[in-house]
Amino acid sequence: MNLILFGPPAAGKGTQAKRLVEGHGFIQLSTGDMLRAAVASGSELGNKVKAILEEGALVSDEIVIALIDEQLTKNASAPGFIFDGFPRTVGQAEALDKLLSERGSEVHLVLRLVVDEAQLLERVTKRFEEQGRKDDNPETFSFRLEKYNHDTAPLVPIYAERGKLVEVDGMAAIEQVSSGIERALKEAV
Ligand code: AMP
Repeated sequence: MNLILFGPPAAGKGTQAKRLVEGHGFIQLSTGDMLRAAVASGSELGNKVKAILEEGALVSDEIVIALIDEQLTKNASAPGFIFDGFPRTVGQAEALDKLLSERGSEVHLVLRLVVDEAQLLERVTKRFEEQGRKDDNPETFSFRLEKYNHDTAPLVPIYAERGKLVEVDGMAAIEQVSSGIERALKEAV
């Protein structure tokens, strides 16, 4: 089962992805986590993307597609993948289809966590205070939301037309969101 956890920044994708890893043994592929790890390690890639992450812009499709390709190859026998924060553009979505079809697979389900902007801002303000992620500061976060609305939200009708999209109320308590996701997974198989 290949599942995309879809939604704006701070919608709870990471939290739910980790629960799915624990419950189902899926492999979580978070391009945000991979890029932050590259920055922290001071690698060539990290140095290249550091400023982009700090300003809340999107890293090039080429870079994130290569990261996903590498992980799909590395985890070829995994029972399923959770794509968290990827794809974020139409180009990335097309590349994902290609990478999966080359491996005889496909995107089975796109779970969209629906959270309104007021709640996103509230959550990210708290996360900024707790974790101090530079790109969670209010100005940068607004820019990330703009990027989401402009570059990423257009994927919603694309997956909906393909009959892959299921919407889950992301404003509910974490347990309830998890239950909604579990229901969607059962219906999808
Ligand atoms: P996230 O943790 O998913 O919110 O990602 C943090 C930052 O990493 C984003 O604001 C982007 O700068 C970068 N990033 C993560 N995933 C992608 C992606 N799929 N495409 C482009 N940039 C990404």
